[in-house]
Amino acid sequence: MRRRNLSVVLGAVAAHSPLARPLSRADVAGRVGLTRAAVSSLVDELIGRGALTEAETAPDGRVGRPGRALSVSDEGPAGLGLEIGVTHLGACVVDLRGEPRVWRRADRANAGRPAGQVLAELAALAAEAEAEAHGLGLRVEGRVLAVPGVVPNGPVGRVERAPNLGWCALDVADHWPDPATVPEPENEANLGALAEYWSAEQAEQTFVHVSADAGIGAALVIDGRLFRGARGFAGELGHVPVHPDGLPCPCGARGCLEQYAGQAAVLREAGLPQYGPGAPGAAEAGDPVVLLAERASAGHAPTLAALDRAGRALGLALTSAVDLIDPDGLVLGGTYAELAEWLLPSVRAELADRVTVRPWTAEALRPSALGRRGPVLGAARTGVRRIMADPTLLPVR
Ligand SMILES: [Zn+2]
Repeated sequence: MRRRNLSVVLGAVAAHSPLARPLSRADVAGRVGLTRAAVSSLVDELIGRGALTEAETAPDGRVGRPGRALSVSDEGPAGLGLEIGVTHLGACVVDLRGEPRVWRRADRANAGRPAGQVLAELAALAAEAEAEAHGLGLRVEGRVLAVPGVVPNGPVGRVERAPNLGWCALDVADHWPDPATVPEPENEANLGALAEYWSAEQAEQTFVHVSADAGIGAALVIDGRLFRGARGFAGELGHVPVHPDGLPCPCGARGCLEQYAGQAAVLREAGLPQYGPGAPGAAEAGDPVVLLAERASAGHAPTLAALDRAGRALGLALTSAVDLIDPDGLVLGGTYAELAEWLLPSVRAELADRVTVRPWTAEALRPSALGRRGPVLGAARTGVRRIMADPTLLPVR
């Protein structure tokens, strides 16, 4: 019960706008419906655990004692988000207010490399990020890892398969050098969707978030909650068929969305070099998404045609999602956000033609503002939200 009340008090302070009048212990008691004495004891504990700070407010000319203002600490507990991409590693530290404070990114060709090697390099990057955070007065207490693969609902810490990395049945803890800092893996598309939900000014409550990196990932947020499916496999939009007798897919089926709207397919159609280890010309070609955007801006006809084809395939796959779950909206995230200018017209045209049995507007499909930063930011904020949900996870100082 105390654990829950600690979380409720911390949540009430976190939800208070920093621009509004400072929040006192009495204000918090009024908001959460507990006695002042109870709230005071909870606040003392949260201060002791480093989650809250209390400062003298400036005299505002009113009669009476100066108030004491509570706020969520911008020092102390923090969340670490980590990311393994096919071509990079990433790290991000956010404070308890959800503000990003440290970013790290390193280019690495991870596909086909042993998981132990990649995780050891990621642990080194994580240690660097934690050291920088420490210099800012932050202490990492929650760690989450975004992976481009299927993370089942259980057992905890397991990555079932990550086809674009070539991994299967991986337990992160088996390969992490320090047992005290093992991050919990989660699917990158899920974390990107959560980051979008927590960041958007007016977030849709039910939406499909589609993102692309090397593969295509989708995540469903339904009534404000991530829908993981019975086993954690929900959102495999990349392998929804868009052409029944179409191109063969490495998954064993034919005509999957990834064969038309995945990065490799778009680069191939655009006549650009493939990206990744062993691909000829990859090193000189640079970031493939930046390259696609440059070519499209310059009016390069094969690139424009490839993006149009990708958009139509995406629109076809998303029509099924719209008809099935009746979302408020659809969000294009990851690298799709950077290509939105050229993808949106064809995705919207396809949806307009095909979504006919329910109301639908072009604006219900929008690009994410977070783009490629979504998954690592979502990972870090997930770490913070675990602390907010159970402040007893924090050591007493
Ligand atoms: Zn497939």
